[in-house]
Amino acid sequence: MTDQKIRIATASLAGCFGCHMSFLDIDEKLVQLNERIEFNRSPLTDIKHCGPSDIGLIEGGVCNADNVRVLREFRANCKVLIAVGACAINGGVPAMRNYFDLRECLEEVYLHGAGVTNPQIPDDAELPLLLDKVYPVQEVVQIDYFLPGCPPPADAFLQMLMPLLDGKAPHIANNQLHYD
Ligand code: SF4
Repeated sequence: MTDQKIRIATASLAGCFGCHMSFLDIDEKLVQLNERIEFNRSPLTDIKHCGPSDIGLIEGGVCNADNVRVLREFRANCKVLIAVGACAINGGVPAMRNYFDLRECLEEVYLHGAGVTNPQIPDDAELPLLLDKVYPVQEVVQIDYFLPGCPPPADAFLQMLMPLLDGKAPHIANNQLHYD
């Protein structure tokens, strides 16, 4: 990675955008970072497809066919791919559905659950096909680095990214590593 701006792409799969919010929590350092990077596909740019990028940040696990497509697109286009947060690394909260049969979950939410007034399981053709389970991203594509936490602290993003911008391996301080 050289003098030209480093292209970073980000995506949220089955996540809550909390990891993206934590990334933005680096506050004024984002201005400093912005001098060295440009965003490709990201909720921050609204670019819909991941083009060739130096670094990809993936938040969230893999719960449906669209997540698989996006994740494979990132792997194909990003030189370095980073799994960000508990949902990407372990499945996180969305993976709590893995303890139940998928049909059972859908029926509870859309047919029998509290507050359901119009019982109907959505089946629009445009909805992505749900997977049987929620999978960690590394079970679908190869991941280069893992940034744990729910969400990872803002400084951990910097400690991960700044060395990578200089072509070095990142080192996250122990006090920035969280597994909750
Ligand atoms: Fe949200 Fe936590 Fe999952 Fe990040 S790891 S997407 S903050 S639930």
